[in-house]
Amino acid sequence: MTQPFSKLTAIRGMNDSLPGASARWEQLEALVRDWLKAYGYRNMRTPVLEHTRLFTRGIGEVTDIVEKEMYSFTDSLNGESLTMRPEFTAGMVRAAIEHNLLYDRAQRVYNMGPVFRHERPQRGRYRQFHQIDVEALGMTGPDIDAEMIIMVARLWKLLGITDVRLEINSLGQAHERAAHREALIAHLEKHKDVLDEDGLRRMYSNPLRVLDTKNPAMQAMADSAPKLFDFLGDESRTHYEGVCARLDDAGVAYTLNTRMVRGLDYYNLTVFEWITDKLGAQATVCGGGRYDGLIELLGGKPAPAVGFAIGMERLIDLWGQFQPEQTPAECDVYIVHQGDEAQRRAAVLAENLRDTGISVIVHAGAASFKSQFKRADASQAAIAVILAGDELLAGVASVKMLRQSDQANESMQQQVPLNDLVAFLKDKV
Ligand code: ATP
Ligand code: MG
Repeated sequence: MTQPFSKLTAIRGMNDSLPGASARWEQLEALVRDWLKAYGYRNMRTPVLEHTRLFTRGIGEVTDIVEKEMYSFTDSLNGESLTMRPEFTAGMVRAAIEHNLLYDRAQRVYNMGPVFRHERPQRGRYRQFHQIDVEALGMTGPDIDAEMIIMVARLWKLLGITDVRLEINSLGQAHERAAHREALIAHLEKHKDVLDEDGLRRMYSNPLRVLDTKNPAMQAMADSAPKLFDFLGDESRTHYEGVCARLDDAGVAYTLNTRMVRGLDYYNLTVFEWITDKLGAQATVCGGGRYDGLIELLGGKPAPAVGFAIGMERLIDLWGQFQPEQTPAECDVYIVHQGDEAQRRAAVLAENLRDTGISVIVHAGAASFKSQFKRADASQAAIAVILAGDELLAGVASVKMLRQSDQANESMQQQVPLNDLVAFLKDKV
């Protein structure tokens, strides 16, 4: 007996994007590419799969991502451990080093696509999701940190999104973090009794992240902990103030959040997040910061860098709340036809129209006029062209305006000689 075949579905937390919704994604992607171009960023694409050690090293062993969120597996052919990228930065930096991208110049680059994290699926949190990843490699000053933040502010403006706020912090330099770490561990030891399991585990391995807890029982302990910001020396403070001054110049408002640490270990100096109240619990749309140590850590010649990532599902959700979706038309012109000869003429006409940049659907197969017009309407085409019968034999087509506003101004249907049709339609769409 054959086994019953269970229904095939997508993997939990991984979404299909159907034609209507996907049109919205394409709109966003086109807008995002123009936005990035306005700042001189160039596209760069890296593989979805990388060696696991790139992420354990690049992101940090004691981070949520590496500890529990990565899709890792062993390549059965050679026993290597591979991982579906959980973020872009490590791969982008790996590629920049491998291809010696920084040998004579700094680089502004971006990548856009799917990333994978094994998290509990809920609104704004998926197992395959998409990021816009933007990296400025080889630039040191607060000017570039500020430019990146200001460019995100421009994206909100382009999308008509107003309800986002900016939080920034400085994580200083390694020696400042070391001094703070000592004070912090002493504080954690003193309050050991309130630490939960994660807190106890991270107390020595990654004490800063213990403060990032959402556990209410630990809030008082976290609030009274020594602040890294208070351990910053002159240079770090000057960098921070440089960023703030430029944000002020641009009129971009921010608040200092001395508790912000970000989920990846490689950050130093500036870190920032854009947060909204419109997405429920998953409130962060964009996060980033400076990671001057990562290029060297991954084997490159030391070079500074700063970058950010935007979660595209959250962005689409947010965008929809400010600019309702409008399903775009499937085509400009829908050709309706009757009879074999008409169908063949329709195919040729459609090619001629496409030559001029008009998008065309030719009704496939044979069907009644009624059902063809139903499809034409559903396609939201502006115009239907009808090829049929004696009219066609006389070298004439009928053109019908399908949109309400057009119908008010023009006679609903008119006859146009086939020879004039391309020129006629070019004017109308
Ligand atoms: P969170 O605190 O929400 O888990 P994160 O700090 O892990 O976010 P980053 O690693 O900074 O997130 O990723 C950048 C952006 O990607 C986030 O600001 C968010 O918009 C988005 N993002 C992160 N994880 C997910 C996910 N599982 N599903 C959808 N979007 C996500
Ligand atoms: Mg996370």
